[in-house]
Amino acid sequence: MNYFPFKYEEPLFRPPSEAYSLILQITGGCSWNECAFCEMYSSKTFKIKPFELVKKEIESVSGFRFNKVFLADGDAMVLSANKLLKILREIKNKLPGVRRISIYARPSDFLKKSAEELKELKSAGLDLAYVGIESGDDEVLKNVNKGETSNTTLEGLLKAKDAGIKLSVMILNGLGGKELTVQHAVNSAVLLNKLQPEFLSTLVLSFPYGEEHFKKRYAGNFTALNKLELINEIGILLQHTELKQTVFRSDHASNYLVLKGILSKDKENLLNKINFVLQNPDKANLREEYMRGL
Ligand code: SF4
Repeated sequence: MNYFPFKYEEPLFRPPSEAYSLILQITGGCSWNECAFCEMYSSKTFKIKPFELVKKEIESVSGFRFNKVFLADGDAMVLSANKLLKILREIKNKLPGVRRISIYARPSDFLKKSAEELKELKSAGLDLAYVGIESGDDEVLKNVNKGETSNTTLEGLLKAKDAGIKLSVMILNGLGGKELTVQHAVNSAVLLNKLQPEFLSTLVLSFPYGEEHFKKRYAGNFTALNKLELINEIGILLQHTELKQTVFRSDHASNYLVLKGILSKDKENLLNKINFVLQNPDKANLREEYMRGL
């Protein structure tokens, strides 16, 4: 339910960890909107909300107390540094209690900004970017028309990190199907090792309009992974990670197996849990389909 004196343009998405944040839709939809697996914004045409309107919305909630603000929609980071700076300053002025501002971003959004601009954005309060990197494998990225390569992902996100912006990245479990499962997992780990993100989560590929619809959009052969193959893929991914201090979560409703820990400290425990499930699927407490909340 929306308690605020302004209206959201539905559908509205936010990361699970932003459940108690003020969400400001500074853009509508996704400027790319081409990923084969994503239907989040397929009903929306991308648009930029005029600054005067964003300002009014911020003013309208200035009597509320918020610790965190999340900037939506899909890739709000696509806005120019100037536009983002104006919004960040407005938030800090009108909502002085705000301690963290986060945003959905694509790696290219960082590449298009200079290192100085990114530092300015960080100083103005932009703390955290949520990025669906989906895969570190170029064949998978190409097949799903992500519009990014492992290189643009790495360069864009390292640029954000260098500016002090923290990263929460997502990998999409099952995205390469049976055909590319190993290279999807291994190359995603290779990319993550270079990135050393603060937060990592995995979501399971889902088919909101059916598997056939996805296959038509996927540029290659695709056979969906079953439950255990999906878990095995996460095992290969974790096995190849060399992360120093990354908070890992696979607790999104889409996952069959809930895994949480700090990588690398908990890597062995997580791998043991996965191996147990793979060897004893009948004893494993996996989420049933109806519990996956999709
Ligand atoms: S960039 Fe993100 S929001 Fe946009 S289509 Fe791809 S997955 Fe969806």
